[in-house]
Amino acid sequence: MKLEEFLSLSNEKGLNYFNFVLFSLSVEYFYSMYLNYRQFKKYRITTIPDYVKDKITHEEFIKSQKYSKAKLTYTTITNTIGTLVSFLCLYYPVYPYFWDLSLRIIEHYGYSNEILRSIVLFVFAILISSVTEIPESYYFQFVLEEKFGFNRMTIGLFIKDKIISTLLVFVFGIPILSLIIYIINWAGPQLWLYCWGVLVCITLASITIIPNYIQPLFNKYTPVDGELGEAIYKLSERVGFPASKETIFVVDNSKRDGHMNAYFYGLFGKKRIVLYDTLVKELKREEILAVMGHEFGHYKMSHSLKQMVVLQFYLVGFLYIFSLFINDNSLYQQFGFESSKNSVFIGLVLFSLIYSPVGRIFTLILNIFSRRYEYQADNYAVQLGFLDCEHLYKLHFKENSCLIYDEYFSAYHHSHPTLIERVKNIEKQVSLYKKKE
Ligand SMILES: [Zn+2]
Repeated sequence: MKLEEFLSLSNEKGLNYFNFVLFSLSVEYFYSMYLNYRQFKKYRITTIPDYVKDKITHEEFIKSQKYSKAKLTYTTITNTIGTLVSFLCLYYPVYPYFWDLSLRIIEHYGYSNEILRSIVLFVFAILISSVTEIPESYYFQFVLEEKFGFNRMTIGLFIKDKIISTLLVFVFGIPILSLIIYIINWAGPQLWLYCWGVLVCITLASITIIPNYIQPLFNKYTPVDGELGEAIYKLSERVGFPASKETIFVVDNSKRDGHMNAYFYGLFGKKRIVLYDTLVKELKREEILAVMGHEFGHYKMSHSLKQMVVLQFYLVGFLYIFSLFINDNSLYQQFGFESSKNSVFIGLVLFSLIYSPVGRIFTLILNIFSRRYEYQADNYAVQLGFLDCEHLYKLHFKENSCLIYDEYFSAYHHSHPTLIERVKNIEKQVSLYKKKE
């Protein structure tokens, strides 16, 4: 391919998918770089913001600024490398090369089946991405996190995690991919409906499979017990959460890092709340209960279910529009493939590239929902009588989390409101609550 052709936005064949992908990749990259630039300026600030003035020392504040800056530098560099690699892979037709290679490999063994060929390509893609990703994640864990005192991982555990997660991608990815290719070839124009049905079934099954069979491969989950357990069970009774040894756990995250977290997970009858052991160790009992109050809020207002429903719109949109594109030969040819014949997997990959701006916008919408749910969960905790924000401050400070955000950066990236936004909201809710009392 000539460079002029590569860069040109017009094409005599009509819609130029290839250049559209290059264009949208560039827009996304430069916009995120612009936001990073705005955020980097915030890291130059050396005076503690007013809202945490009497809660944090100057030294702690500077450390949080340095840590946040180091993380943003890391994502800026990895994002730049990633975008560059994507461009090179498109310019030098790397994907068509591996697609041909996959055919040659299976033909060598006397096969020509589309599903087998796609599996070989899938294995190549996963192996290459797992291996090339190692330096990045090694640097993050053993240099960056280590420097700020968060790393607790050994090299042995790092390697074990990598191997298990790659194997899991094969164990689940290969059958799902094969099934999807089979259905798409079988279903014709109605493929979106059948694929969607299958994906919904897989999602529902994963709610049981992930916590019971996958998460235990990485971590140990112990039911919460002792005095803390009693207090949590009592609170659960008040809010009507089915607390048991099957639903509330402490996870031994401290073997990987020093970060603290708590989350609510699940749908319908399969629900669980998980607390990191680091959080249990660092917070006082009343503060842990305030965290639980927030998680119970997510449970009470069915936030997981609502998010799952919103996600279905994205999925159906993707599959339906894909069903219109799948047989368009020019899509395949513009990216260096022969035709759409027996290339369902390639069609899926190429269409994902074209659809990615929609995915980006959708993530923004999901983040808006998610931020709203965070406020609602905080409000619920206030209604339960948890009136102060000490646990939020403490979690934030111990994590060295950023305390000054650029509003555009935050709106684009965050699924949670910032600390100052949450504190302001809680204070407002508390005054309403006190008036009502
Ligand atoms: Zn939350």
